[in-house]
Amino acid sequence: MKGYAMLKIGSVGWVEKEKPACGAMDAICKPLAIAICTSDVHTVWEGAVGERHDMILGHECCAEVVEVGADVKDFKPGDRVLVPAITPDWNSLEAQAGYAMHSGGMLAGWKFSNFKDGVFAEYFHVNDADGNLAHLPKEINVVDACMLSDMVPTGFHGVELADVQFGDVVLVIGIGPVGLMAVAGTNMRGAARIIAVGSRPVCVEAAKKYGASDIINYKNGPIEDQVMRLTDGKGVDRVIIAGGTVDTFASAVKALKPGGKIGSVNYLGSGDSIRIPRVEWGVGMGHKAIVGGLMPGGRLRMEKLGALVAAGKLDVSLLSTHVYEGWDKLPGALQLMKDKPADVIKPVVVL
Ligand code: NDP
Ligand code: ZN
Repeated sequence: MKGYAMLKIGSVGWVEKEKPACGAMDAICKPLAIAICTSDVHTVWEGAVGERHDMILGHECCAEVVEVGADVKDFKPGDRVLVPAITPDWNSLEAQAGYAMHSGGMLAGWKFSNFKDGVFAEYFHVNDADGNLAHLPKEINVVDACMLSDMVPTGFHGVELADVQFGDVVLVIGIGPVGLMAVAGTNMRGAARIIAVGSRPVCVEAAKKYGASDIINYKNGPIEDQVMRLTDGKGVDRVIIAGGTVDTFASAVKALKPGGKIGSVNYLGSGDSIRIPRVEWGVGMGHKAIVGGLMPGGRLRMEKLGALVAAGKLDVSLLSTHVYEGWDKLPGALQLMKDKPADVIKPVVVL
């Protein structure tokens, strides 16, 4: 089979590999549509997961099952499925402790295009098929289905980590596709006011449609100063971080009220430490919580988030700004995500 791979850090190309083998609890699937992620760019061009040779990229898709192992109960060849980017081992101790995304070690629930070949291939392997796949609801088209692999679960996890409550004033830093889903999730959780931070007009327009009440351009001065102006010096109840750098945490702490929470889903690609401003952190006693997390994967999560889209309560269609057809469009779509021209939110390739 063919797959589109990271040949080494900084280099990509097509590779030819054996079709993966199917264990007793596993499934082999073929993608129906695939989406490119900012993380694919981090993986190849920033060496985010370290050096890899000929590793097939991709962790966002929906798919058709072509083979299942003897112990798989709920899926059969021909089924159309949602596929989470994170596919934990559900019988691990970490999963029993409530952190399945870290099953087998920190971040080790992220297997596709990290510890094993990803989904940019004619066929790919899914561990624990009953625990990780979900049936694709008939109401959801294949392009929208790709947004359920990573963008919706990650953005919504930011909302969970920040613990958004009814009536909160929430700051969402970063309104790429992940941040946009954080805005949508924050709105669904009943925030009274959502202040979104970004610069590109396509994202700003989408953020407003998803419920942002105010927009801050981080290029126009420190985020915290702009937040304080908008809130009459009061600050916000919650912050979700879905963009920026290690320095963004300082802005988040400064913009946050005492007792507030910061939920970060941002990947921090450089910088050795995160500096927390001492005074604004209440000289150590401000009750300002900071949590960063990898998205939860698994079947239940996929079924629930899929149900929101199927019911028309969450419209993910604004995210897929560039839709292509056929495998030969994949290299260009990845390059597009790397270059990120102003009008791109998410490229998707239908197969
Ligand atoms: P994008 O690059 O598309 O979006 C980043 C956003 O952050 C944009 O709105 C950008 O603004 C904004 N931004 C850039 N620099 C700054 C800055 N200095 N201060 C404030 N805002 C800034 O990324 P995605 O939405 O695709 O992903 C967001 C992050 O989530 C990435 O780091 C990704 O790797 C990570 N991720 C984490 C996962 C998890 O499980 N935790 C899973 C998937 C992704 P603009 O472009 O408008 O200028
Ligand atoms: Zn992704």
